[in-house]
Amino acid sequence: MRRSLSVRARVVLSVAAMLLPMLALAGISTLAMEGTLDRFTGTADEALYDTIPLVRLQGLVLRVERNGLYAVWNPEEEALARYERAKAEMVAAFDSLQKEALNEERGLVASASGSAQRTVLAFDVFLATRPENLELDPSAQTTQQSQVIQQNTDAAVEALERAERISRADMLSEYAAAKALEDRTRTAVIAIALLGLLIAVAGGFVLVRSVVRPLHRLREAVGVLSDGALSHRVELDRRDEFAEFGDALNEMAADLERSQGDLAHQALHDALTGLPNRVLLGDRLEQALVRGRRKGMQLALVLIDLDGFKGVNDTLGHEVGDEVLRSAAERLRLCLRRGDTAARLGGDEFAILVDADSPGQALGVAERILCSMRPAFTHDGLDLFLTASVGVAFADGRANGPELLRSADLAMYRAKHGGKDRVCVYDPSMHGAADDRLRLESDLRGALQRGELSLHYQPVYSLDGTSLVGVEALMRWNHPERGMIPPMEFIPVAEQSGLIGALGAWALDEGCRQLRHWQDTVAGAVATELKLSVNLSARQLTDSALPTVVAEALKRHGIEPHRLMLEITESTMVSDVAATIGRLEELKKIGVHLAIDDFGTGYSSLAYLQQFPIDQIKIDKTFVDRISSPEGQALAEGIINMARALTLEPIAEGIEDADQLAALDRLGCRLGQGYHFARPESGADLGHRLATAPRVTAA
Ligand code: C2E
Ligand code: MG
Ligand code: MG
Repeated sequence: MRRSLSVRARVVLSVAAMLLPMLALAGISTLAMEGTLDRFTGTADEALYDTIPLVRLQGLVLRVERNGLYAVWNPEEEALARYERAKAEMVAAFDSLQKEALNEERGLVASASGSAQRTVLAFDVFLATRPENLELDPSAQTTQQSQVIQQNTDAAVEALERAERISRADMLSEYAAAKALEDRTRTAVIAIALLGLLIAVAGGFVLVRSVVRPLHRLREAVGVLSDGALSHRVELDRRDEFAEFGDALNEMAADLERSQGDLAHQALHDALTGLPNRVLLGDRLEQALVRGRRKGMQLALVLIDLDGFKGVNDTLGHEVGDEVLRSAAERLRLCLRRGDTAARLGGDEFAILVDADSPGQALGVAERILCSMRPAFTHDGLDLFLTASVGVAFADGRANGPELLRSADLAMYRAKHGGKDRVCVYDPSMHGAADDRLRLESDLRGALQRGELSLHYQPVYSLDGTSLVGVEALMRWNHPERGMIPPMEFIPVAEQSGLIGALGAWALDEGCRQLRHWQDTVAGAVATELKLSVNLSARQLTDSALPTVVAEALKRHGIEPHRLMLEITESTMVSDVAATIGRLEELKKIGVHLAIDDFGTGYSSLAYLQQFPIDQIKIDKTFVDRISSPEGQALAEGIINMARALTLEPIAEGIEDADQLAALDRLGCRLGQGYHFARPESGADLGHRLATAPRVTAA
């Protein structure tokens, strides 16, 4: 873009444009005035010059005539001599005038000179012929008259000469007056020019003050703002368009500052709870570590994970989940002391940075948090009971922020897996555990190919003590170094790493193979009537290939579909109800039976239970454990009656003694499994059991 003149240059040009015409006007008027005066004095001089010689000549002509007349009347020597002198003087005057006269004036002078010559000639002739031609009577009266004429002519000549003097003086005084006027005019013009200059300079100054300076400050302000200093405000001590522009600029900067602040807040805070987010916590953590090292403070990071939150979200929806998270955040806030920072790391995970004087103080905060989560979260008249798993890690002066966070995470993980609703303090051995987990995952990848996995079978009996009706297949991993690893340890690893698909498919195939084998090798009705239960994980349910995998396993080993029971843990069924129902119905179409495992540990509502196409409910071991107490008995009775009402078969898990068995029997539960009957055992051992003890025998 073409660069135009700066405002400063424009102001200078405007002032110059104001000034120059004034100076030009003053100059022109001075010159014009001087010219007029010059012309006036020239004309006056000329007039004087022209008039005075003529007056003088006239006087000389008069003198010649008067002396001529006198000589006519008094022809004396002296009179004639006077006449001749006057004549000579007049002729000389004419001659000199003739020489000086300009061309155009020469005619005039010549004609005047001619008429004067003729007068002189007339007198000369008259004087020469006077005695003969003229009979004159030089009486006393004529002499007297001629004397009077002579006097009058002299007076007239004098009057003429006086008039000449007077007119010259008048002219001079007029000239002087004109000169004085010229001087006054020049002074006035200079004064006006100076005044104009002053006004122009003042105008320029005002322009600079009112235009250039505010513009400069506005430009400066825009520069500062564009450099990112949004708190800068432009101050213009005036009320005009520039001030309006400045106000608009300030408003814009304030808006920008506000929205930048909002953005910064959004970037660093969790939108749901308003707590600082992971980024801000990381930042505060680094600052606190530096401060702690300097002041020798005991810095602790407390990590909190809500137990059972996923169930709330899955069962009651995300809106209720959000409400619970907001309430949990509020409870956390109430546990803080001045200077502590609470943050939401994501999901149901929170962190608190505690600047404590002693480890005891930090642990006090952790315990308070634990207690604060226990009271029910009430929603729509419904009491939701959640607990928290809390991990605490202390800064040891060497660890950085991410390391401290990882340590607290490990401690929290340990709290969760140690039974939830508890506080665990980090100790370095936990790092080994985390490494173990990684190693476990890597070992599990090859376990199937290496033949390290096997299935054990736990028999299911009818509680009236008559028969063995089924077996539950339970996976076992015989690790080459670590020995037997329980499924509670490696199934979650398989789920998280995606290995569960292959493991689950193998379990189905292996279970069916084993059942076929028993049916083929063990004589009697027990083996042929036997039902096989296989556990499914939530991840398998999301796989659309599952029905095909099941159907193929059945087909491959020639198993009737109704002999296979698939168990799905309750808490995993309700995450996506519609999809789960769809998949279960596909499985039902094949002809297999379905059971809800660990019933009572999740949040299935009766409405869901009715919708799921299930056949069996497996009452979780925790209810069987408490069955000896009146409340436990009431709960178990409730579940059994409800199952009956829904035409579902209840089956009790984890029966460990005869009392439990008797209680369950009394309540009308017909099927059960547990150490009281038999522990899970190898396929071969169970084959023996099938062959040798088809009738119920308590272990
Ligand atoms: P589950 O399906 O509820 O299996 C019952 C668990 O209770 C088994 O533990 C069994 O050994 C144990 N148990 C049975 N009776 C008693 C008793 O009287 N007292 C006590 N204390 N325990 C008893 P296990 O074999 O360790 O399996 C644990 C869980 O691992 C299973 O719980 C099941 O959820 C899962 N699991 C096992 N095998 C598989 C599998 O092939 N696939 C999948 N997805 N999960 C499996
Ligand atoms: Mg099971
Ligand atoms: Mg179970």
